[in-house]
Amino acid sequence: MTTVAAYAAPAAKAPLERTTIERRPVGPNDVLIEIKYAGICHSDIHQANEGWGEAIFPMVPGHEIAGVITEVGSAVTKFQAGDRAGVGCFVDSCGTCEACLSGQNQFCQDGVSTYNAIGRDGKPAYGGYSTHIVVDADHTLRIPDSIPLDVAAPLLCAGITLYSPLKRWQAGPGKKVAILGLGGLGHMGVKIAHALGAEVTVLSQTLRKKDDGLGLGADHYYATSDEDTFKQLAGSLDLIVSTVSAPLDLGAYLSLLKTGGAFVNVGAPEEPNSLNMFGLIGGNKILAGSMIGSIAETQEMLDFCAEHSLGAEIELIRADQINEAYERVLASDVRYRFVIDTATI
Ligand code: NAP
Ligand code: ZN
Repeated sequence: MTTVAAYAAPAAKAPLERTTIERRPVGPNDVLIEIKYAGICHSDIHQANEGWGEAIFPMVPGHEIAGVITEVGSAVTKFQAGDRAGVGCFVDSCGTCEACLSGQNQFCQDGVSTYNAIGRDGKPAYGGYSTHIVVDADHTLRIPDSIPLDVAAPLLCAGITLYSPLKRWQAGPGKKVAILGLGGLGHMGVKIAHALGAEVTVLSQTLRKKDDGLGLGADHYYATSDEDTFKQLAGSLDLIVSTVSAPLDLGAYLSLLKTGGAFVNVGAPEEPNSLNMFGLIGGNKILAGSMIGSIAETQEMLDFCAEHSLGAEIELIRADQINEAYERVLASDVRYRFVIDTATI
């Protein structure tokens, strides 16, 4: 066991504060990572506030982890000390269930999330707002040399969460793709959809971030607070990926799709959403969901980002600014991901 510094929420909705936690000894299949940067995902806030239901406290959030390996277990062959490494939203999967065997180990029936979960050792799993983490090597990602670690961290959740559905729903040349919500996930969606060759539209609440959106690679930018947007774009889009963290008027967005178009939801609001089914059946519309991606697909995404020189747009913060950053994320005041410099923990 090693005692390391971390930032934790002691209870639901309580401000995060500095503390120490225990990391397990490095087992034969583990790596020890010195965390350099940890992104703040809106999911961290949902969970620290117990917005998704009962959670485990104290909670050390953080599933956008980038750092350097400092020790490898005796059976680890694919990493060595000094390698740049990342950890995303889950740290274990069984490898034998139907989900794992079908290449979707993010849905492992016996999987372990990076935090707000109990690990295989029966102890609580603690996330990335910390100086070090011990992780199974098969759940550790290789961060390509060309992506700086600070802008790589958000790729481990925001990057894969958008890459996976954009690939699955064939965003590419000739496709009109809208990204709904220009926050941490959304801005990566714009970059990735643009790199895939799609014609990209941002649907944001206001035009406040229009210049940024166009700079990130969007071709068009519309405010959803403007009723005209829904008239102008009616029936025009092949794919909408929604990153919105709150319930939406789904019918209004389905009306923007072409016949057979898909609305893929990745946002995880705390409240349920209602939908008039006529918005779905008229035009054979598709309503789908998507959750992160497998370890293999996350590695594919990191390599894709390296090839296309993609990283997140970040605001680097000190650990003592985490609570303020949470408030700003909740106010949609993030451009476009807060990343903690873990040296300040
Ligand atoms: P974020 O940075 O806060 O971005 C969310 C964006 O949604 C905001 O920037 C805002 O964009 C828009 N928005 C917020 N409240 C809204 C409202 N009431 N009405 C309309 N639009 C609103 O959050 P994030 O980190 O990108 O995460 C987004 C959501 O995805 C969260 O619920 C998170 O838990 C979830 N998530 C899901 C997965 C997955 O695997 N499916 C993975 C990670 C996160 P504008 O300012 O442009 O309007
Ligand atoms: Zn996340």
